[in-house]
Amino acid sequence: MKIEVLEKDETNLRVIIRDADVPLMNALRRIALAEVPSMAIDEVVMIENSSILQDEMIAHRLGLVPLKTDLDSYSLPEDCECKSEFGCPQCRVTLTLNAESNEGTRPVYSGELVSENPAIVPVADKIPVIKLAKGQKLKLEAYARLGKGKVHAKWQPVCMCAYKYYPKIETPSQECADCTKCVDLCPHKVLSMKSNKVDIRDLLACNMCMDCVEACPKKGEGIKVSWEKSNFIMNIESTGALPPSRILQEATKILDKQLNDFEEQLKAIPE
Ligand SMILES: [Zn+2]
Repeated sequence: MKIEVLEKDETNLRVIIRDADVPLMNALRRIALAEVPSMAIDEVVMIENSSILQDEMIAHRLGLVPLKTDLDSYSLPEDCECKSEFGCPQCRVTLTLNAESNEGTRPVYSGELVSENPAIVPVADKIPVIKLAKGQKLKLEAYARLGKGKVHAKWQPVCMCAYKYYPKIETPSQECADCTKCVDLCPHKVLSMKSNKVDIRDLLACNMCMDCVEACPKKGEGIKVSWEKSNFIMNIESTGALPPSRILQEATKILDKQLNDFEEQLKAIPE
């Protein structure tokens, strides 16, 4: 298997994975969505709420605020040594919010949450939580913990995790002087015209929609679009909780552990 990085920044990763197959790619995708843990607020203790929103609504909104996650210092509450339903400093982070509007209506943003651990904070400061009118107050204590996307989507570390086949395009060998249908039609501008011949401008942008093939008047001899069966392009967009490359690393670790567990169980079957 070979990996080639196409794009990489804080929240996005786009890679070409060669010599893989669909079951493996899909396993990695599903594990990234449902099994890689991230931090999210799970319980809220309301101390004062004179806003117009009910406690539950505010707690729900707080749960959906993505938090920066530290997988090395925290453990999942179910795996934590404390075995306590209230949690301990190894499996729980406390955030507090104390907001009041003294004059006029003002929005309260995620940046006003004060965390006991400066490493576990909202990924963005400007996520609106609520609007407070003059004299209204919101005071609460929120408890964040690690969790998995398969339990609640708020624990999903990715906004998007998808893969597609590596496209393969065969352009017609003859000149297509009077027809530029496929070039004009392609929604991703994959093709261009070069000295009266169809040329590939951006192969990786092709999503194999086949619009160009259908538009081509030279059926069979014109443009052909197919894909490489063992090469893939994978896109991961993180919520900001974890770097996308770390999400992929964790996904492979989890897959490895699941296979090892499976092997152990197979070994335990008496001959
Ligand atoms: Zn604990």
